[in-house]
Amino acid sequence: MQPRAAANQITKALRLALPQDKWFPVDPLTIAQEFGVQVHEEDLGTGIEGAMLCSGKKSAIVINSRIRELGRRSFTAAHELGHYSLHRDRAELRCSFEDLVDTAPHPENIEQEANEFAMTLLMPMDDIREQAGTGVPTISMAKRLAMRYGTSLTATALRLRESSSKSFALAYVTSGQVRWWWPTSRFRWRMKRGQAWPSALLPCDDPESHDTRRLFGIEAKARLGEVLRVSGADMPNYDASLWIVETPDERRPWEWDKIEA
Ligand SMILES: [Zn+2]
Repeated sequence: MQPRAAANQITKALRLALPQDKWFPVDPLTIAQEFGVQVHEEDLGTGIEGAMLCSGKKSAIVINSRIRELGRRSFTAAHELGHYSLHRDRAELRCSFEDLVDTAPHPENIEQEANEFAMTLLMPMDDIREQAGTGVPTISMAKRLAMRYGTSLTATALRLRESSSKSFALAYVTSGQVRWWWPTSRFRWRMKRGQAWPSALLPCDDPESHDTRRLFGIEAKARLGEVLRVSGADMPNYDASLWIVETPDERRPWEWDKIEA
């Protein structure tokens, strides 16, 4: 079964079983236990976030007890539940932090499939569309929805990116350099891994306007226009920061629906 379809099937069952005010945040470990999967927390050392083990009819999900942030723990649990739902034929899967942020389109990448499952289960598309409305996602919106879904800021922002047809890019920055750059298809400029992030930008929940050329140079200005709107947040637990860079929407409000339809 496809990852999204498998997750949506569980969402349907959850919504039939629970009153609406209990739909979020989704608790993947309780769901795993409902399936008869054992759930353990163990010290898996550094580098491994979680694991899924299968032997005969017994299955277990192990979450690394070193994970402190609830959002990351919940995403790891949902990712392992994804392996249980989709890849039970493997006896043992251990998943690293890198696995859990792999969103590159590899058709047979099981780590990406488990991530797709986790994103869909924790943040169902119908709900995130309803919550996000028609505006361009901002850090303040990502923070609000991260609370609703019990997810990390990065996972929530990635899901917002999937749900939106607007022109913007997400940047995950460590040590002043771009580590991941996730643009929407409408955003016509790319940063490379390792490229320096403008030190002039300061974290802010709501977007602030900046001169494109001053931030990213002449080529970016030619492709994106004179002004960019940027919001961003520090993530001290990861020694990283997350940014949303958008091109201003120059259409009139009454034109929005027409063009998106
Ligand atoms: Zn995995």
